[in-house]
Amino acid sequence: MSEYRNTVPENWFVDPVRLGVPGVRRVRATDDDTLAWQADALCAQTDPEAFFPEKGGSTRDAKKICTTCEVRGECLDYALQNDERFGIWGGLSERERRKLRRRA
Ligand code: SF4
Repeated sequence: MSEYRNTVPENWFVDPVRLGVPGVRRVRATDDDTLAWQADALCAQTDPEAFFPEKGGSTRDAKKICTTCEVRGECLDYALQNDERFGIWGGLSERERRKLRRRA
């Protein structure tokens, strides 16, 4: 299966309130909220299209952002646990996540 898709998936981020978009009230995360880490996601402050490039598109910019993201580990864990098929999660492409899963 290709690691590229034409659009950003609807479930990529829950909503702007949870993300802490400037000017929008931020919801307090709870321990049982599996998506709470998204409130600190660096990519929420950037163009989501970079994280879901079209076929043949570069993933370099997205991966570079991931290297400085505080929730990189949580993001990657979430993608692995939920078998996210498309896009960059935790700094890895779907192909790289598949390799990681096989090694585990
Ligand atoms: S690791 Fe990358 S994809 Fe995951 S939340 Fe951070 S910036 Fe976004």
